[in-house]
Amino acid sequence: MLLVLKETISGGERDSLKARLASWGAVCAVLKLGGREAWSLQGGMPPVLDCDLLPGVERVIPPGESFFLASRSFHPASTQFSLGTAVAGGNRFLLAAGPCAVESQEQMAICAQAAKAAGAAILRGGSFKPRTSPYSFQGLGAKGLEIHRSAADSHGLLMMSEVLDRQDLPVVSEIADILQVGSRNMQNFPLLKALGQQKKPVLLKRGLAATREEFLLAAEYILAEGNERVMLCERGVRSFDPALRHTLDLGSVVLLKEMTHLPVLVDPSHAAGRRELVLPMARAAAAAGADGLMIEIHPDPANALSDGPQALLPGELATLRADLERILPVTGKSFGGQA
Ligand code: PEP
Ligand code: MN
Repeated sequence: MLLVLKETISGGERDSLKARLASWGAVCAVLKLGGREAWSLQGGMPPVLDCDLLPGVERVIPPGESFFLASRSFHPASTQFSLGTAVAGGNRFLLAAGPCAVESQEQMAICAQAAKAAGAAILRGGSFKPRTSPYSFQGLGAKGLEIHRSAADSHGLLMMSEVLDRQDLPVVSEIADILQVGSRNMQNFPLLKALGQQKKPVLLKRGLAATREEFLLAAEYILAEGNERVMLCERGVRSFDPALRHTLDLGSVVLLKEMTHLPVLVDPSHAAGRRELVLPMARAAAAAGADGLMIEIHPDPANALSDGPQALLPGELATLRADLERILPVTGKSFGGQA
């Protein structure tokens, strides 16, 4: 159970609330989001649920909801926050584009130019790669981060890169603007806690077989540590059908938007696994109300070191921009995401 405190709670009300909860044997953890304070009750359950009878309490959120800070009941308005030179959430639509893995300066320069031309605010690219096989390309590491940074800077783009392990966090958070948590790490709780304790915004990808509740609880780990800038990314889930790499769960995007105030982006590239499906799925995601898209591109997909089959050519990304300009008015969002 969660007690959301009134913004005007007085010292006296606070003391008397504490005393009443203590008399019920309830243990409180204090949570904060957007300047709002809430007390999460563990242990003894108060016999009184009516907030009118609890001094200084604005709302009581009943136990059924296992996540609080991520929940719309706690924060009814859609969250909007600055990423630096772009804005996430609310009525803004963000485009992130770039290669699966950072490979070279030349590759990143071409991708950055294409991303910028297509109206993207974010240049994505992995330098620490979570690969299924230990024999596959694992990323350029710190050298890749430097290449990525300079490509992003030369086109005025934000840099987003995956943090694969808690031990990489200092080096990635020092240089990147947005930190990505990959699907395979959605429930890496020590990593999530560490991301909550630093200030850079986080893009959290849905686990390959995670329920929405598990997804939102993973976001809750970051929020509960004090980092309020969390974006979710739906990227498809495991299913029985090998025709697609994963199954893009667009119903989930609609449900997530009901359940949470956090921005929900969609990555059709990893869901599709095949280039020809990426643009139609991207259009569908925008029409379903997503707050943004993440698209993989590569100047030479046939020779890409990872995920070539799903990479769009730089020129193909440009057509997405025109499509989005037509689709987004239906959802009330505006394309661009610039601050
Ligand atoms: C990625 O976006 O680079 C990636 C590895 O995706 P996912 O974690 O969704 O598989
Ligand atoms: Mn990839």
